[in-house]
Amino acid sequence: MSGLLQSWTTLLHSLAPKALGLTVWLAALGLTFGALERWRPIRRRQQARRGWAQDIAYFYLGGLLQPFFTVLATVAVIGCTAGLVPVGAGAWVAGLPLALRVVAMLVLGDVAFYWAHRWAHECEALWRLHATHHSPTEMDWLVNTRAHLLDLVFARVVSSLPALALGLHQPAADLQAVTAIVLTMTTVWAFVIHANVDWRMGWLEQLIVTPAFHHWHHANDTEAARNKNYAALFPWLDRLFGTYHMPKDRFPSSYGANAASIAT
Ligand SMILES: [Zn+2]
Ligand SMILES: [Zn+2]
Repeated sequence: MSGLLQSWTTLLHSLAPKALGLTVWLAALGLTFGALERWRPIRRRQQARRGWAQDIAYFYLGGLLQPFFTVLATVAVIGCTAGLVPVGAGAWVAGLPLALRVVAMLVLGDVAFYWAHRWAHECEALWRLHATHHSPTEMDWLVNTRAHLLDLVFARVVSSLPALALGLHQPAADLQAVTAIVLTMTTVWAFVIHANVDWRMGWLEQLIVTPAFHHWHHANDTEAARNKNYAALFPWLDRLFGTYHMPKDRFPSSYGANAASIAT
């Protein structure tokens, strides 16, 4: 009994500083995106969006618990697939230039994410988890945090598999700084693409996922807009796999979806 109590105390002690860090992060995001959404909103809002308080809860839940479950699930999956990578492949990959490994990590990671995300829409059981993220009928930066814990873990594990399986993350010391920068940028960008901002980005929209691209992923205004734009970083993956949808110069007129309307 005292051992159990001690484990919980240790866990709580590790969670407390993390929760404090998340609070600072949330305040910085709130100030930045609050200002941006006032400056250039797609639709000006007179009152707070329904469900924003729940999204704050999702923010803490995901931030505190998701890393534990992701590590556990990744270790289990790597253990099951260890024999599938040819002997010697790791050493060959580790010898590649750093820039090439980073680009390969990003592209292969997004290919894996694309399919994890697409399955989350097309497979009934996975959609039940992913539907949480699509429940808001209005968009803003905080919608990014609204996700079922298992949905987050599933997407994270699948998208990290190519890098882990091919050893792209090795040698770790070499990549530490780059990984931290890329991780911070992609995390912030995930909030940007959900934000209620009317930015169109011209030719850049062909290269990277932008607010318009991801808003169309959440669209619920026409049949043609449903089940489109799955990529998190590279919209050309949706062109490649036939799910690209990007009307020029306009944003969706309505958002949100339910399982019956979206599952195929
Ligand atoms: Zn989705
Ligand atoms: Zn989203």
